[in-house]
Amino acid sequence: MNTPDLPAGIMPDYRREIPAGLLARQGSWIWHEILQPGVIRHLAADGSTLLTVRILLPPNGLLSAATLRRLAGWIREYALTGRRTSRQGFEFVGVKPEKLEKLLAELEAAGFPAGGTGKSLHQVKCCTSFVHCQNAAVDAPSIAKVITDFFYRDFLQQELPAPLKISIGGCPNQCGGGVEADIGILGWYESVPEVDEERFLAANIDIGLLVSWCPTGAILTRQVKDGMVVSIDADRCVRCTSCVQVAPEGISLKKRSYVDIAVGGHGGNSYSGPEMAAVVFTRIPARPLEYKAIIDRIEAIINYWRRSGKPGERLAGFIERTGWSSFLEAIGAGGVEEPGDKPSLQTNFRRDLHFRY
Ligand code: SF4
Ligand code: SF4
Repeated sequence: MNTPDLPAGIMPDYRREIPAGLLARQGSWIWHEILQPGVIRHLAADGSTLLTVRILLPPNGLLSAATLRRLAGWIREYALTGRRTSRQGFEFVGVKPEKLEKLLAELEAAGFPAGGTGKSLHQVKCCTSFVHCQNAAVDAPSIAKVITDFFYRDFLQQELPAPLKISIGGCPNQCGGGVEADIGILGWYESVPEVDEERFLAANIDIGLLVSWCPTGAILTRQVKDGMVVSIDADRCVRCTSCVQVAPEGISLKKRSYVDIAVGGHGGNSYSGPEMAAVVFTRIPARPLEYKAIIDRIEAIINYWRRSGKPGERLAGFIERTGWSSFLEAIGAGGVEEPGDKPSLQTNFRRDLHFRY
């Protein structure tokens, strides 16, 4: 494949990062197969092959300088290059076949096991949450770690009906992508932001800007003796935290929080095309360190799908075939309002699906 010269600009040219032996075959790939969990072999049109090894990274792909040096050392010794995957894992690309077993052994001993390919639990993706985000309602990285540790066998082997992608966002903004995953964990504040009228007035906040930032028109203005204040319409507010970013002097969040668990999100075109996940468990306590209430429900979902899913059937397709009512009943999530009715993403407002833990 002839690739045109890329124009000069601010973004580095990705081809600078690719060794010549790999660049020469760009665009010539015709097939790939999974040799064993975490090991993929790609075939090029000229008959040459390329080995890729996928490993588990810490949650959110957080990497210290020391870990980056270790990854670089393994690349130098065993592979052509490396890349962080879209799910925050890592792949060694162009692994030397004669050194594959040694690399796998070293990775396992160092706590970076290979896996997450094919019909396995793929790297659990999550947002940064409290690491450096002011919006977080729950700690997505620690939830990701607990889920991965609990289901680690499913990362290391490929015995699920189909690939399983779990994603976690620490607040409704969902930078972690929970709304489009097979299983999504969605962090929520328990109540809408609170307005401290005295502090709000003292801070001389730009009310026009504040109102324009609210995506749902939930901020209502009111004239009082000393100026203009706002209140928040709880029925309209989706707890996105935008108003707190604009007016932190006068609007704040109560720290109580919970998660919703959604299923059947799907980003690709297979089955009936891209789908938003639907909430099946709402107001689930997110209690570190075990996060037992979350684990119990994810286990119910995975076990039912593991038992009854057909080979190659992603969670969305499985639910489509078996029906929402029987799925919800089997996982202990209660019923839906009408048979066959798919729950909505905003089920946090649907008390009928409230599951008491
Ligand atoms: S989802 Fe929320 S908590 Fe997570 S990084 Fe985005 S804004 Fe922050
Ligand atoms: S949290 Fe979001 S939706 Fe709610 S009032 Fe603030 S800006 Fe509007």
